[in-house]
Amino acid sequence: MGDLRTEVRAWLDDNWDESRTLGDWWKALAEAGLGYPSWPEEWYGRGLTTEDTKMVRAELRAAGAYGAPSGVGPFLAAPTMLVHGTENQKRRFMPGIAMGTDVWCQLFSEPGSGSDLASLSTRAVRDGDEWIVNGQKVWNTGAQYADYGILVARTDPDQPKHKGLSYFLIDMRQEGVEVRPLKEMSGDSTFNEVFFSDARVPVDNQLGPLGEGWRVTMTTLMHERDTENPASGAGGAFVGRPRLDATIAEVRVEAASAVEDGLALSMGGGIIDQLMELAEEFGATADPVVRQELMRIHCLREVLRFTGLRIKAAVAAGGQPGPESSTGKLMQSEIGRRIRDLAWRIEGPYGQLVGPDAPRGGVMQKYGLFQPAMSIAGGTDEIQRNIIGERVLGLPKEPDVSRDVPWRDLVVGTQR
Ligand SMILES: Cc1cc2nc3c(=O)[nH]c(=O)nc-3n(C[C@H](O)[C@H](O)[C@H](O)COP(=O)(O)OP(=O)(O)OC[C@H]3O[C@@H](n4cnc5c(N)ncnc54)[C@H](O)[C@@H]3O)c2cc1C
Repeated sequence: MGDLRTEVRAWLDDNWDESRTLGDWWKALAEAGLGYPSWPEEWYGRGLTTEDTKMVRAELRAAGAYGAPSGVGPFLAAPTMLVHGTENQKRRFMPGIAMGTDVWCQLFSEPGSGSDLASLSTRAVRDGDEWIVNGQKVWNTGAQYADYGILVARTDPDQPKHKGLSYFLIDMRQEGVEVRPLKEMSGDSTFNEVFFSDARVPVDNQLGPLGEGWRVTMTTLMHERDTENPASGAGGAFVGRPRLDATIAEVRVEAASAVEDGLALSMGGGIIDQLMELAEEFGATADPVVRQELMRIHCLREVLRFTGLRIKAAVAAGGQPGPESSTGKLMQSEIGRRIRDLAWRIEGPYGQLVGPDAPRGGVMQKYGLFQPAMSIAGGTDEIQRNIIGERVLGLPKEPDVSRDVPWRDLVVGTQR
């Protein structure tokens, strides 16, 4: 590790410079395999272990360097593509993800299909060398900025619901894709409705075998629930279009004057520092009840970290994230609620303010108002408990009378 650390430091000495543009810096980081060092060497990584990856990240931070691109691309699309993608797909899509030039979104949930995702209705029908897509998705984070989407659609309605699905990489910048932002209670619009009317996907953009979209989807969801996913705490805006032409110094000035949205605060990793600073500002660090809760949050975060390390060890041994991801995700929601409650308790009556009038520019209000979403996104708390019950505790599977019935017989009206 010593050699690697020396090499990374030398590379940073030669390359890190705040006056570089963001696009130029991300390209250099990707080409050196240092943005996502756990990815394979041929795809902008170095095949490093979790421990070595953390060391690289720590060196980047210590040098004050800007982190790798984040968002659905590196968080979900890349790890899914690395498992199921063809060489051609990786060649076409991995550079844009690694260098942050392409923004991705996740097109899974539908108005009638969230927890029971496999019941989804969006259809893809083959037409020569293309698939024609019709239907509606919802809750699609960042879709208003996206160039591409990871999409699950029904390709065979005569199969039972889990079996007739396929997974696609769809171009969002085409006629036939309409994105409508939704407004959240925090005031932000991080997610959207997406409507497909005869949108097209070339057959080469089918990820994984035809009809095996559910298996590919599981890979994505396991990475989504993995609290140690290296894209969770990366740099850059989690939702938005990065300004690749701006210098990093400019990007940082803009970021410093804006309060991040609730999703970025929840995924970005800096919230504990905010909480500690808040406690100090309000002179609450000597309050035994506050101290006790701070310690509880710290302990839960440590347990969460260990769970994440177990997931990483399983992946390093050739497996995929398993039900540990569900315990991790549940814990993450619990910790989020505790941080919110403690922050608002420390703020007392000031906790009722929002925006710039609130303490620290309203950061804890943004964070707190977003926390209910963390118990829903990526599979609700109840669904995680079902998974733990069935796969860890060995409880009987939840009855699902629709499991073996052709999907076409489950739906009514025009959806068929
Ligand atoms: C912040 C945020 C970002 C999101 N981003 C995306 C995105 O980018 N792309 C995307 O495709 N989706 C996204 N989602 C959607 C998310 O995956 C769904 O909201 C989630 O899977 C729940 O589905 P639903 O909203 O349809 O709720 P439902 O499935 O209708 O559930 C309603 C309630 O019933 C409970 N319930 C349902 N089934 C069971 C059961 N079998 N046992 C016990 N309880 C049950 C649920 O726990 C919940 O409390 C996002 C959601 C949020 C909040």
